[in-house]
Amino acid sequence: MSRPGKVVFIGAGPGAADLITLRGARWLQQADVVLYDALTDPALREFAPQAQWVHVGKRGFCDSTAQTKINALLVKHAREQRVVVRLKGGDPSVFGRLEEELEALAEAGIESEVVPGVTAAIAAAAATQRPLTRRGKGRSVSLATAMTHTGELQAGRNADTEVFYMAGKQLAALSRRLLQAGWPPDTAVSVVSRAGWPDQLHSDHTVATLPRASLLHAGRPTVVTVGAGAVALSGVKKPAARGVMSPGRLTLKP
Ligand code: SAH
Repeated sequence: MSRPGKVVFIGAGPGAADLITLRGARWLQQADVVLYDALTDPALREFAPQAQWVHVGKRGFCDSTAQTKINALLVKHAREQRVVVRLKGGDPSVFGRLEEELEALAEAGIESEVVPGVTAAIAAAAATQRPLTRRGKGRSVSLATAMTHTGELQAGRNADTEVFYMAGKQLAALSRRLLQAGWPPDTAVSVVSRAGWPDQLHSDHTVATLPRASLLHAGRPTVVTVGAGAVALSGVKKPAARGVMSPGRLTLKP
């Protein structure tokens, strides 16, 4: 049997295709096969028209290609091809089940590499012009998932700025949990859905009024930023809903 190929995990960024890193785009150009998630931009295909594109997406807890099936697919393709790209939304190391896929490859003796990407929390901070850290007031940032693997919602108070992933469907429950965790009711909360996409939406709340965000962001990938990093800067106007320039055609010279 010939030598197995290599699997390159690439963070596609949160939305618009031009938020991928140059390194990620260059690996895509060399890909024989791309296993991609639901949250990645179809425009990224322009980087790898030569590759076979395989959808292995998982959204929330509904449509799911079982993780073990994805692991097996990665191993299978790496045994048959030279460069296998595993394209993940945002950054692969943030709520991306990367550990399971890396372990499966290591077990099979297959080489891997991870190329970072812009995670949703960072994209939301950029889109709203709300820095996640603030001199003197925002000294720590926590990236948290509100959902436990049993489907129960949890929220603590672990940092000056806390960014919650995967809580979009349960904003009322998140508000209650935040109050229980000791966040004052008038703490600033910034909610951004589809950050980095042309149809991105942003709304401002407090911990107490967070449930009101549910309707606006329903059914969309959403991050909830709580605390120091959610506060609007004085004099900075809220950017237009469409904070993203169209990248036009995506070309990249090696
Ligand atoms: N690896 C991804 C996170 C995957 S978990 C990253 O680094 O961003 C999926 C969760 O990420 C969603 O439930 C949502 O909370 C968040 N998310 C992903 N893309 C998003 C986007 N464009 N805007 C807002 N939240 C997003």
